[in-house]
Amino acid sequence: MELHHDRHHAAYVSNLNTIAKDYPQIVDMPPVDLLEKLAELPDSIRTGVRNNLGGHANHTMFWTVMKAGGGKPSGQLAAAIDRDLGGMEMLTSDFNEAGGRVFGSGWVFVTVAPDGKLAIETRPNQDSPLMDGKRVLFGNDVWEHAYYLNYQNRRADYLKAWWNVANWTEIGNRYAAARAGTLAF
Ligand code: MN
Repeated sequence: MELHHDRHHAAYVSNLNTIAKDYPQIVDMPPVDLLEKLAELPDSIRTGVRNNLGGHANHTMFWTVMKAGGGKPSGQLAAAIDRDLGGMEMLTSDFNEAGGRVFGSGWVFVTVAPDGKLAIETRPNQDSPLMDGKRVLFGNDVWEHAYYLNYQNRRADYLKAWWNVANWTEIGNRYAAARAGTLAF
C-alpha cells in the first residue's frame, strides 16, 4: 500500500501537475467538472488528463474507503445494499466476480445514482464513473500494481481479502453525501 500510494498514485499527481504547467485553465475547473468534460479539452492533453486525473480521483477514493477492522454497513446504506444488490453476500460475490473479469488493468466500483440506487460497474485503466456523471460509493483497484507484491497473479484472493479492510463508516458517509449531492471524488 505504501508503494501504491507513494509511487503509483504520486506519479498520476505529478503527471497532472506537469500538464497543468502548460494548460493552467485546467487548474481553474473543479476536478469533477474536468472529468465530466474531457471531450471539451484540447486533443493534446485529453488522454493525459483522462489517465492522470482519473487515476488521482480513483486513488483518492480508494484510500478513504479502507481501514483495518472496517465494520459493517448500517442504516440507509445497508437497506440500499439489500434493495439494489441483493444483500452483502451477493454484493461481495458479484463485485469480486466483476473485478475478476476486468481484462488487464482497471477498477470495479459500486456507483450511486442521484436517487440513491446502487450498481456494480467496472472501468478499464484509470477511467472513472465520474466521467459519465455518476458518483462512486466505493471501488477496488484491480491493476496488478495493487496486488502483485502480496498475491502475485491471484487477483481473486486479493479481491476476497479486500473486504476485510472496507471502511463501512466512511462508505456510509459517502452514501449520505451522494444522496445530498455533495460527494465529489
Ligand atoms: Mn492503483
